[in-house]
Amino acid sequence: AKQDPILKVDKIERRFGGITAVDVEHLEVQRGIITALIGPNGAGKTTFFNLITGFDKPSSAGSGAAWEFDGRSLSKTSASSVAKAGMVRTFQLTKSLNRMTVMDNMMLGAQDQSGENLLKSVFKPLWRGQEKDVEEKAKELLARFKLLEKKDDYAGSLSGGQRKLLEMARALMSDPKMIMLDEPMAGVNPALTQSLLGHIQALRDEGMTVLFVEHDMHVVRHISDWVVVMAEGRVVAEGPADTVMSNQAVIDAYLGAH
Ligand code: ATP
Repeated sequence: AKQDPILKVDKIERRFGGITAVDVEHLEVQRGIITALIGPNGAGKTTFFNLITGFDKPSSAGSGAAWEFDGRSLSKTSASSVAKAGMVRTFQLTKSLNRMTVMDNMMLGAQDQSGENLLKSVFKPLWRGQEKDVEEKAKELLARFKLLEKKDDYAGSLSGGQRKLLEMARALMSDPKMIMLDEPMAGVNPALTQSLLGHIQALRDEGMTVLFVEHDMHVVRHISDWVVVMAEGRVVAEGPADTVMSNQAVIDAYLGAH
């Protein structure tokens, strides 16, 4: 495959007390494909997501940490600037604001991906367009994810799978270049699984870069173009999905439990 990294990460380390959660020497994510990040529980996948999206900071020993997204250094920026640069994420435990409507959740997506920065985002909207345009866009995305008829319902009334869809739709409100999904299939009932997979593939087919963490190996094999295996904070293997997932050493060492 052609090398065209949209994300390049060097020497990123995060320790919690005596535990080294992430110790990545080098990792690249290629543009326009679906990359899966897999590995056993505690491998550091979520911590890695948190680090590169500005939701967590590297430990001082990793002060040589550098990451570049779409040609732009992001190592010293906040979660909201990361989102602004075009890298948005969803969370393992969805962060939709349950006591707000589906539509209002979408409008927040237009302003800021970092739910933890809501107040700030109210004053510093990412979008400069008319509110009407943003509303139109929200409706289009909700229609695409089959949530339009739910637009006035509280987000808290949605099913687990619908919440995952809402998170994806909200992430797309800021026109990202790369979307990062943390366990998009967790808590999704089987009826919605196919539809979610279809949405992820459709995004890739439209040119979006997708990076996702997932424990379900059938899902990983089914939709990934490239698989990165993490264990104990390090990248221990990577390659095309079929190659990596039929590598017996990888299966035994890292995926046995799944
Ligand atoms: P899972 O697949 O279970 O979600 P993961 O690969 O995402 O796991 P992380 O959640 O990143 O792994 O955890 C990596 C290691 O860092 C684990 O040992 C975890 O206990 C530890 N860790 C993560 N966050 C914290 C924290 N806030 N405080 C202390 N330890 C943490």
